[in-house]
Amino acid sequence: MGHNKAFEFAAMPNAEGYFGEYGGSLVPEQLLKVMQDIDKAYQEIRVTPEFQNELRDLHRYYVGRPSPLYYARRLSEHCGGAKIYLKREDLNHTGAHKINHSLGEALLAKHMGKTRVIAETGAGQHGVAMATACALVGIDCEIHMGEIDIAKEAPNVVKMKILGAKVVPVTRGTKTLKDAVDSAFEEYLKDTDSTLYAIGSVVGPHPFPMMVRDFQQVIGEEARDQIQEMEGRLPDALVACVGGGSNAMGLFTAFLNDTDVEIYGVEPAGKGLDTPDHAATLTLGKPGAVHGFKCYVLQDEDGEPLPVHSIASGLDYPGVGPQHSYLKDLGRVNYISATDDECLDAFMTLSRREGIIPALESSHALAGAMRLARELDKDKIIVVNLSGRGDKDADYVANKLGL
Ligand SMILES: *Cc1c(COP(=O)(O)O)cnc(C)c1O
Repeated sequence: MGHNKAFEFAAMPNAEGYFGEYGGSLVPEQLLKVMQDIDKAYQEIRVTPEFQNELRDLHRYYVGRPSPLYYARRLSEHCGGAKIYLKREDLNHTGAHKINHSLGEALLAKHMGKTRVIAETGAGQHGVAMATACALVGIDCEIHMGEIDIAKEAPNVVKMKILGAKVVPVTRGTKTLKDAVDSAFEEYLKDTDSTLYAIGSVVGPHPFPMMVRDFQQVIGEEARDQIQEMEGRLPDALVACVGGGSNAMGLFTAFLNDTDVEIYGVEPAGKGLDTPDHAATLTLGKPGAVHGFKCYVLQDEDGEPLPVHSIASGLDYPGVGPQHSYLKDLGRVNYISATDDECLDAFMTLSRREGIIPALESSHALAGAMRLARELDKDKIIVVNLSGRGDKDADYVANKLGL
């Protein structure tokens, strides 16, 4: 039984990019061919020793992997229950997990002979990671970003420019992430020969949900070895925040077949699930389609994506990765949520108990883990993905709390 299931998870998605009924490549004919070419190139190079070695060396000498697995003793004592371990993706070069897939995508672009990478960014985190990877690999980088986000995230815009990226302000529609994606795709369609579109999470048309997951799964592979070394066994629970879902898939993938390990994804409940101001897609959305793939979507009666909100800009997306949609239906992963206020509380608690300032996105995972730890006995073990550091959020939180 267990063996069959292992095979099932390893084989996902199928050749058309479906995880159960979710995923696929729901794009115009012209783009479908382009996506198939990317899939083919990826399948070819991913197994070559050159690509594997290049990525492994970059992980080690450039990103600083393996990232530590850290036992948060004072945080655990504060909660008074299970032991909480943090997977320190915040210590990676550029401060979050996003460098993992950005390096993979930039290397793929180079191997495909592309001269430019184009990408969208919300808070600017994917933009900075992509600009970094492109500077390293030596190809041009163009980042589309909503005008409102540009104003809000000035330090990241400056970093992208220093790193040599061209930042294109998006002035249409909501002037935020959703329209930045549309704008970047339009620009991409003008020149798919010399350009690779680099998506920033486990979303979008096939092969991106699979490819970005593969580039991120090093997180869980390391954590699995590390916890066995430190505790002599697997954890009882995993917790990660879910925006598009890449850091979560990165941690979860290595444990999907360990059915004794409970898995939790934490979505942003914003100002509350009973208000319109949240982005809890798996908790309150319905199956639908956005940006070229099928998944759970927060949508109105006509299937149009709803406006979303989270205190963490990296989590406010009305869709979610197709594999998460599938894992929800299977019941393998429990999707829970944390509000803006719970996120702020977790942000301050980790800062003051451990001297680690987490990203507001990661603080959602912490909030979920702290709640879970209180319910569990002291001999239980929880591994939390600390997806990024909170430098970018420090001013905002200080203002908000009047510090
Ligand atoms: C972008 C971001 C996220 C959300 O993206 P996922 O694809 O859901 O991982 C989470 N944490 C940090 C630090 C981020 O920058």
